[in-house]
Amino acid sequence: MKIQKFEVNPFQENTYVISDETNEGIVVDCGVFYKEEREALVRYVKDNKITLKHLVATHAHIDHNFGNNTIFEEFGLKPEVYGADETLMQKLAQQAMMFCNYRLDYEMPPVERYLHQGDTIAFGTHEFTVIPTPGHTPGSVFLYCKEENIAFSGDTLFRMSIGRTDFELGSFKDITESLSKLPSILLKDTIIYPGHGPKTTLEYELEYNPYLKF
Ligand SMILES: [Zn+2]
Repeated sequence: MKIQKFEVNPFQENTYVISDETNEGIVVDCGVFYKEEREALVRYVKDNKITLKHLVATHAHIDHNFGNNTIFEEFGLKPEVYGADETLMQKLAQQAMMFCNYRLDYEMPPVERYLHQGDTIAFGTHEFTVIPTPGHTPGSVFLYCKEENIAFSGDTLFRMSIGRTDFELGSFKDITESLSKLPSILLKDTIIYPGHGPKTTLEYELEYNPYLKF
């Protein structure tokens, strides 16, 4: 499996293109914002002849969804996001104004499907399972591929930190509860790809992350 990271937009968000040997793939958290970022992502997909099967958001914050229109226009895919983030997903334009005083001057594609616990995102010979981890937002999720022992954590878990819970609909109590369940779901050596910053492992976080002292 190939994981290509693009660090994009004013929030330095990680957009990931994941593909396998069949050349099918998915995009996780399409935050591309500037013209050059959008073009680089499209070029990567086309140059590597990747057939995209899904566009998934780990949660419905604008910095993880800025580029959904580019994926829709270029590849015809609409975003998938956890059901509990429906409210936020419908307020992407308001978020752009609130978080970075930016007037969203383009139409966002409608949601393809609202995800539920245990749903799978399949492409090629692989699949990711949707694990709800509310707290940063009500619909924040981990996307977990057991076979490859990797997970995308969105803004729930970062290397040595966790996502903020002081935004609208955030809950520190919920994120703490979500994080406390991770050791029973993931293996210790699961590689975690966060929505911001470098990758890590659950084992490393259990040892060094101050928010993972249960
Ligand atoms: Zn976020």
